[in-house]
Amino acid sequence: MRGFLVPVVSLVVALALTGCATAVEDPPSVPRLDTVSGPHVVVLGTAQDGGLPHVACDCPRCEAARHDPARRRLVASLGIVLPDSGKRFLVDATPDIRPQLDVLAGYTTTDAGRVDRRPVDGVFLTHAHLGHYTGLAFFGFEAAHTREVPVWCTPSMAAYLRSNGPWDQLVRLENVVLHEVSPGEAIDLGEGVTVTMVSAPHRKEYTDTVGFVVRGPRASVLYVPDTDSWNGWDPPIVDLLRNVDVAMLDGTFHSLDELPGRSVESIGHPLITVSMDLMEATAGAGVYFTHLNHSNPALEPDGEALRTIEARGFHVLEDGAQFPL
Ligand SMILES: [Zn+2]
Ligand SMILES: [Zn+2]
Ligand SMILES: [Zn+2]
Repeated sequence: MRGFLVPVVSLVVALALTGCATAVEDPPSVPRLDTVSGPHVVVLGTAQDGGLPHVACDCPRCEAARHDPARRRLVASLGIVLPDSGKRFLVDATPDIRPQLDVLAGYTTTDAGRVDRRPVDGVFLTHAHLGHYTGLAFFGFEAAHTREVPVWCTPSMAAYLRSNGPWDQLVRLENVVLHEVSPGEAIDLGEGVTVTMVSAPHRKEYTDTVGFVVRGPRASVLYVPDTDSWNGWDPPIVDLLRNVDVAMLDGTFHSLDELPGRSVESIGHPLITVSMDLMEATAGAGVYFTHLNHSNPALEPDGEALRTIEARGFHVLEDGAQFPL
């Protein structure tokens, strides 16, 4: 890591994400998102595809989240914001896209009083699993009916969207315009910010999977929400960590304790405990775990798992956190 950047958690962003408007006396109707100036990343969600509370689960942690908005987490997603040009980009389109677009709407100063046909200036997709692309459906005719929103994805993801409903209709009606990108190719967003794909080994039922490196004039962020174990990475993940300031990585499961009867090899995600062992000497302070499953004990505020992660110099990503680029 070249340096450690402290994230700024904006209370208003957190409130917009949790819907907990009663925690302040006079909640602003539009969140003021001026905590970080210049290009930055805003964390729009940190839960695994099923969310927190997880759909149809009544485990104590999900029940607690149902009754306490502060404990809820939206499905993993990022916003990339370029304030000078007023541009906003979405990384992954999740089932929680409605409140997530509300947060990004707070970055515009114009309010036309009607549906914004261009709610974002582009979308970057990691892969075709439920939590990462199905929110695109809200760009379609039945909802926002967006106009030519660029979607950057791999050729495999683009082919999947073009040839399967309802996604093919979004392409046909030009709600979205697909741009095929290969790993290593940099996409220039302006204001000195670029986005580059990195290949991630992960279950390929429909498409391949990527992560992204977002580089700005001040700092860089590596985002890999979903991957198989780090063993399959080429180049090794620790090499990538040396060239970024912050890494937001797959923290779906904490340890084998939450997966009785399963072996590390069978899980299909890097356990947080295994990631910390691998990265401790390389990275430390700049690694934030995201895409947390509802079973993950690191979700417990002040719990032992979270305390241990922090004590070892790692972090659990929070909805609403902002990082300068
Ligand atoms: Zn996922
Ligand atoms: Zn649960
Ligand atoms: Zn996945």
